[in-house]
Amino acid sequence: GAEAETGRSVDLSEYFTEATKRRKNSPLKTLGKYMRADPTLVSLGAGLPHPDTFPFASIGATVAQAGTSVTDAAAGRVEVAVGRAAAGGIEELGRFLQYSDGRGVASYARFAREHTERIHGPRYSDWDVVVSQGNTDAFGKALALFCQHGDTLIVDEWTYPAVIETVGPMGIALAPVAMDGGGMVPEALDRLCAGWDGARPLRAAYLIPTAQNPTGATMDLARKRAIYAVAQRHNLVLIEDDPYYYLQFGPYRAAAECSGDPDARYAALPGLAGLIPSLLSLDTDGRVVRLDSFSKILAPGLRCGWVTAPRYMTDKIQFHNETSIQQPSGVSQALVSRLLNEQWGAAGWERHLVQTQRDYAVRRDLFVELCHRHLRGAAEFVVPRAGMFLWLRVLLSARARARRGVMQEVFDAMIAHHVLLVPGHMFSPLGSADDRVRDQPYIRAAFSYAPVDAFETAITRLARALEPFVREE
Ligand code: PLP
Ligand code: PMP
Repeated sequence: GAEAETGRSVDLSEYFTEATKRRKNSPLKTLGKYMRADPTLVSLGAGLPHPDTFPFASIGATVAQAGTSVTDAAAGRVEVAVGRAAAGGIEELGRFLQYSDGRGVASYARFAREHTERIHGPRYSDWDVVVSQGNTDAFGKALALFCQHGDTLIVDEWTYPAVIETVGPMGIALAPVAMDGGGMVPEALDRLCAGWDGARPLRAAYLIPTAQNPTGATMDLARKRAIYAVAQRHNLVLIEDDPYYYLQFGPYRAAAECSGDPDARYAALPGLAGLIPSLLSLDTDGRVVRLDSFSKILAPGLRCGWVTAPRYMTDKIQFHNETSIQQPSGVSQALVSRLLNEQWGAAGWERHLVQTQRDYAVRRDLFVELCHRHLRGAAEFVVPRAGMFLWLRVLLSARARARRGVMQEVFDAMIAHHVLLVPGHMFSPLGSADDRVRDQPYIRAAFSYAPVDAFETAITRLARALEPFVREE
């Protein structure tokens, strides 16, 4: 930022749960520093398995050239072999397959750190990254920093079901905040906090700022600034779960308004330079815990991601890793590190992200166009500017609205017409069965996965399924 903030984060460690306060690093892991400091030291310390016993001489993958598909002919190759480190400090295979600490293998963690610095430019000095197995893992650990049995987590009024299912069994309550087409409403968050009279203070809010799951809403910069200001006023931590951040593709223009040339139509994709700034990039206090995941930009099965936060928080997540996952799989870290640091490099990584933006932009544009054509009068929606989801509000007739359980009837009708969408109530922090949400007229469509040539079939089936519920008689 222009003000060149390099001050330290504010100290929010008073918010740590009792378990987090007690969490320390594993004493054995602290011995590693002696091995690193003294090359002549003979270690009879750590009980590491001998790498000669590992039955892998090399691992490799055939990969797409950056910005192309694996089905294109000119594929590339990454290969990580025992005893052969690569330029740029990329470790040899034995190192990836060995134990280390919960911070991650160095070249993988370094890529995450450099990417974060370049894209999000954190504005306080003591920020750091720690590896995760993706945002599901990272969310559980970010939550455990601040919330325990009896606490309340602030969430959007519709939110990601895995979060609802994580907090419920832990005895953590959810406080839903109203949303609009641009995400969580800052005034509603402010009112909740100002009027809070719970036994324990509100400490943390969970947000999905880009392509929110399920509503598809993307917060613009003004909205993020407003939410951040409310968080400052009430001293909240913001858990920024942003797996769709890099899948931004901007406003929709109907094909008829554009030239027929797809390259021209998709010339203005944001790439990395044009992305809406993240909450992390606005964070001068160190109150944002940002969760990044490779799931939507490489593949979910890698189980690879990272967390960015003040160092005293990433330390606690590191120690938590050391008693749970240790690290993402070494095989995954080796492939990701070699692919991004070396095979693609920074320029190739950006080409890949632009191509991924374009793949989903093409899907969004076709899906939206077909919804405009076939669902007129049956459903309305905010056009998503990022991600994978379209959130439909079904325009139920007065007669349908008067019926208890009508959204179950809608669901049954969709299934009978061979098309599956997710009923809105499944995303409610109040629980699916709650009378306040059961018949809310929302359904979520994912346009990320179905074959593109099945879109029209799906949407015309949906239109037929909805028809009896929206017709005024
Ligand atoms: N958070 C949100 C909001 C998601 O929508 C998803 C998956 O779609 C995840 C987290 C899970 O991500 P990961 O595969 O990184 O655990
Ligand atoms: N399982 C996992 C672990 C996921 O990450 C996802 C994607 N979010 C899903 C299931 C699909 O969930 P949803 O349709 O709610 O996005």
